[in-house]
Amino acid sequence: MVKETDINKVVRQHLEMEQFFTGFTVKRESKMGERQQQKDDSSITKKAEELEKIAEEVRRCCQCGLGSLRTNAVPGEGNPNARIMFIGEAPGADEDAQGRPFVGRAGQLLDKVIEACRLKRSDVFIANILKCRPPENRDPRPEEIISCLPYLQRQIEIIDPEIIVALGAHAARTLLNTNKAIGQIRGQFHEYYAGLGRPPIKVMVTYHTAYLLRNYSPENRRKVWEDMKKVLAELGLPIP
Ligand code: URA
Repeated sequence: MVKETDINKVVRQHLEMEQFFTGFTVKRESKMGERQQQKDDSSITKKAEELEKIAEEVRRCCQCGLGSLRTNAVPGEGNPNARIMFIGEAPGADEDAQGRPFVGRAGQLLDKVIEACRLKRSDVFIANILKCRPPENRDPRPEEIISCLPYLQRQIEIIDPEIIVALGAHAARTLLNTNKAIGQIRGQFHEYYAGLGRPPIKVMVTYHTAYLLRNYSPENRRKVWEDMKKVLAELGLPIP
């Protein structure tokens, strides 16, 4: 006996099945979204914990002579998941007093640069080559850089930023392992290798904000802004 096909029944069943699977898929997607979110949250928490461990080590560090001269070590601070890391030279008097990077006049100018990019300080991570203040803000010595650099290297590895902005000659030369003058390397992307098997991190070299304060001119200010616009473009962020 040939069964008659009830077309309405077939259509209804088909629709029910579609709704069931669509609903199922949507539920699955939101569950997966939630799970991804939880994964992201726990990876940020893990990064924050690892960074805090380094900060604790830095606060106890006495590997070079600067350790005995400091009021506070300045490990660095910011977003553990930052896309941009700013790296300066070494803490000055204000940073030594507060244990926080870039809080003096050069820091206030850096805040303005960050704001001009339509970013917040809490979006980025800010650190220095040296974690302790050299007396009278003298230049970092090679042996100080050698003993301090592993802390920064570990911070970079954990944060894994897309771009590092090297502020000034000391940061740029240390990160890029070069002796070139800042004028030769400024305004271009270079590469920093964070570890074997990891893709290189782009490094934009620009003038230190302390240099900008000392040598203020519309031309120098424009150069820093041009450099930052390249950073924003590279990250696909809007250029104000
Ligand atoms: N200059 C730096 O290089 N780092 C600071 O934290 C402050 C001023």
